[in-house]
Amino acid sequence: MESSSAATVSAGPGPGPAPVDLLRRLRARGAGDPVTHVERVPARAGVPAPWPSWAPEELRAAFAGRGVTAPWQHQADAATLAYEGQHVIVATGTASGKSLAYQLPALATLLADPRATVLYLAPTKALAADQLRAVAALELEGVRPACYDGDTPRAEREWIRRHSRFVLTNPDMLHHGILPGHAQWSGFLRRLAYVVIDECHTYRGVFGSHVAHVLRRLRRQCARFGATPVFVLASATSGDPATAAGRLTGLPVTAVTEDASPRGGVTFALWEPPLLPPDSGSSSPVPPQATGEHDDLHQVRRSALRETADLLADTVAEGVRTLAFVRSRKGAEVVAANARRALDDAVPGLGDRVAAYRGGYLREERRELERALLHGDLLGLASTNALELGVDLVGLDAVLICGYPGTRASLWQQAGRAGRSGQEALAVLVARDDPLDTYLVHHPEAIFGAPVEATVLDPANPYVLAPQLACAAVEAPLTPADLVLFGDGAKEAVDQLVAAGALRQRPTGWYWRHRERPEVDLRGEGGAPVCVVESSTGRLLGTVDGGSSHFLLHSGAVYLHQGVSYVVDDLDLADGCALVHAEEPDWSTHARDVTDVSVVSVRSYVDAGPVGMFLGEVDVTSQVVSYQRRRIATGEVIDTRPLDLPTRELRTVAVWFTLSPQSLTLAGVQPADVPGALHAAEHAAIGLLPLMATCDRWDIGGLSTAVHPDTEAPTVFVYDGHPGGAGFAERAYGTASAWLRATRDAIAECGCETGCPSCVQSPKCGNGNNPLSKPDAIRVLDVVLANLPE
Ligand SMILES: [Zn+2]
Ligand SMILES: [Zn+2]
Repeated sequence: MESSSAATVSAGPGPGPAPVDLLRRLRARGAGDPVTHVERVPARAGVPAPWPSWAPEELRAAFAGRGVTAPWQHQADAATLAYEGQHVIVATGTASGKSLAYQLPALATLLADPRATVLYLAPTKALAADQLRAVAALELEGVRPACYDGDTPRAEREWIRRHSRFVLTNPDMLHHGILPGHAQWSGFLRRLAYVVIDECHTYRGVFGSHVAHVLRRLRRQCARFGATPVFVLASATSGDPATAAGRLTGLPVTAVTEDASPRGGVTFALWEPPLLPPDSGSSSPVPPQATGEHDDLHQVRRSALRETADLLADTVAEGVRTLAFVRSRKGAEVVAANARRALDDAVPGLGDRVAAYRGGYLREERRELERALLHGDLLGLASTNALELGVDLVGLDAVLICGYPGTRASLWQQAGRAGRSGQEALAVLVARDDPLDTYLVHHPEAIFGAPVEATVLDPANPYVLAPQLACAAVEAPLTPADLVLFGDGAKEAVDQLVAAGALRQRPTGWYWRHRERPEVDLRGEGGAPVCVVESSTGRLLGTVDGGSSHFLLHSGAVYLHQGVSYVVDDLDLADGCALVHAEEPDWSTHARDVTDVSVVSVRSYVDAGPVGMFLGEVDVTSQVVSYQRRRIATGEVIDTRPLDLPTRELRTVAVWFTLSPQSLTLAGVQPADVPGALHAAEHAAIGLLPLMATCDRWDIGGLSTAVHPDTEAPTVFVYDGHPGGAGFAERAYGTASAWLRATRDAIAECGCETGCPSCVQSPKCGNGNNPLSKPDAIRVLDVVLANLPE
């Protein structure tokens, strides 16, 4: 959700130094040049379009009253396609005004047809509330927009169902409330003209697969009442948006991707903190005996947090209004505190002009912060992404991004904060010490030249499909036509539900046999969700899906919830509940597991001589056995503590490759080095997969072995960490040569000698990053790439 007009005030301190001069001074500070690339993103003039002829005067006047005098071309194009009845996705950049693209056709239709209705879906309640304010501010007669979610008082719900013609909700409420109660919603659904799906790139992985079926259930109910609504989707810039939207809705969708909104120019620098000397004192990790690990781990880079803090202090000293994005709240505080200290050392009192922004501020506090930045009382702010929600900061001179935010889409969203009223701005991406960040700062084309990543989801996942079909059967018996609607695998899933006694087949369809509805949580999978409860108050903070609970909620784990830090006292698996207390220690925790993989079936494979590439089902057996505590500021390992948790089984989808032992010997990999070579390649491959798919390395797992009982060859497995798979392994298989090429380059180009977190070490390794062989990993990948067809 974003506002369609960009009416902003520009005041405060005068313009700072030109970005190019500023950057020159920043990079001249230390020994060596940390800047690996400078990209000049040119300013772009907007392309306005006339109001579409079908847009009624009343609506144009209402938008004009809110400061929107004409649409941009992409808004007009998408709006007209939707108005003409085509399903459309508009996928453009931050602040490009995607809202207008769906508001225009939806509201024009509501004005023209006094009976028509619109359903708007946002991933969060807060975004729906923002959009409600925007629509309500247009003050259109008879539209009666209203939010309908978990917070809506019972007393208002019936009024909304009967009278609102623009209902704003989220997929969870659609799933738990509206679809099961379709009889009460029949009047609304019968007249449904548009379904708007905002921020649809957030529906990815298993959650996205669930939402895809919730939308099919919605289409089914609409069809029963004779309605065929048009779907309008809005997305951040993403790769192949038409295909992703088609998978999400099950409908043919046209994409509008040409952004016609204006943008200021940005000088974008990629910054790699220097490697510290192998035996440098304070920043070197603890000696091996303290961690029980082997001793190849010493070479590390200066931490991205320290580097960002220094840059923040330097830009503030130059009078430049700067925002630093840091992943965690604690990290943001470390950056702000270090920058304040450095500034106070230089000029006592100057540190007061830097602050940390934490989530959970009240609206007035956020406005105060905006005011202080606008007027220059505050010059530097270190923030988590919480800032994305609700603070309207525009007109910053520089943005520092501490660590790659996971997707190019988020990167551009954060960098998009820089630049006030058409002025030039500076953006700096500071690389963290991991393979993906390192690869990116050495491969600017992967950031500036590449299309943004595709949103990945897999509606055919049987672990999603079966429970969703059960929900659908409760809403109305399933018919053969429904099997087509729900797509690949639906018939098998129905047969399974019949065999399990959940459905009964009759001549008129498949009927749900139980009294109770099935319990299906869209956001949780892999076993019942575990509740996170604050011990002192009994307050429920949230839930974590069963699959991640051992990793995230073991005793002693530091658990972040909406930017606030808690420490877990006890994980009670029998009760499905973790007791926590609020505490912000200056360490983070990292769980480790031991894993076994066995092949269940092969879906597809490529036979490439000595190399085989496979996609298939596997059973993964794993056990979380210990966790490490690490200092937040430096990443230094404090200690490793044992855990006593049960083994778990996961049936999922994996991609794997095998190599013949002869090909490895020919490539110069000694038999004794094969385990370390495969292990290093596996780590780096997992680290680089987010380049191909919108997952992060915590969504996927891996295993490598010199000889696997099922493949009888040296093998590297990479699997989806979700039951039934989430589409990531499939994506890896589909892009195998590009993915492994990037992996190979990331390892080869890392400046370390024996492997480091920037290339082959993994923060979640179950084996303490042992054994690893960096040079042999390159040889392994060269063999694979030489044989694998492009
Ligand atoms: Zn390295
Ligand atoms: Zn490992």
